[in-house]
Amino acid sequence: MSSRRPSFFDENTEPLPSRIATGLHKIGLAMKQQSWQQANSEGLSATQGQILAALVAHGPLTGSELSERLGVTLPTVSDSARVLIEKKLLTKSPDPRHPRASLLTPTEKGAALGARARSWPEFMAAAVTSLPPEEQRAFFSGVMKMIRALQEQGLIPLSGMCVACKHFRPNVREGASPHHCAFVDAPLANEQLRLECPEHEPADETIRRELWEQFTRSR
Ligand code: SF4
Repeated sequence: MSSRRPSFFDENTEPLPSRIATGLHKIGLAMKQQSWQQANSEGLSATQGQILAALVAHGPLTGSELSERLGVTLPTVSDSARVLIEKKLLTKSPDPRHPRASLLTPTEKGAALGARARSWPEFMAAAVTSLPPEEQRAFFSGVMKMIRALQEQGLIPLSGMCVACKHFRPNVREGASPHHCAFVDAPLANEQLRLECPEHEPADETIRRELWEQFTRSR
């Protein structure tokens, strides 16, 4: 019986999860650097750019809603919003839903900057297009699962993902589009699942767990 002697790399390779984490860290640094450079060239901080981009994407929000969506503290949002108001890029008005809260709305100039800030991650999308389609699908699936795991651990805010939405009906039919969105009453393929849907309504914790089980059961 022959037994292979361990090679150098059998004994000197970090586990795959550690190397993936290192890779993601490097990508994160590139994104941070790009956001910082692009924000700087627009005369904004990266957080100010994120605030304007979020308001363009979701419409007027309160400071608490922005803090939750962006995963930054309320004092950070308040400081950035104050500067944006001074620069005449944001306005503050009473929130008709909550008498003691204020809604932040971008001015015309703020909305134009916010629209540009939304495109900051495009350099990353360009890098992803260098992958063949099957690798893109596998990558998307892995990214979605990682985001979900981090959300469930409370490490990043619950965002607008289909897999955590009360309108999501996973694996309800055979074929290329096995899922269904009850909000628009339309089928959904795996590669069409959304990570940041404006119509997302968070399902409660028990339903989220059930949705995830149904989603992963036949995959
Ligand atoms: S409303 Fe949006 S997040 Fe919810 S299932 Fe439909 S497409 Fe997905």
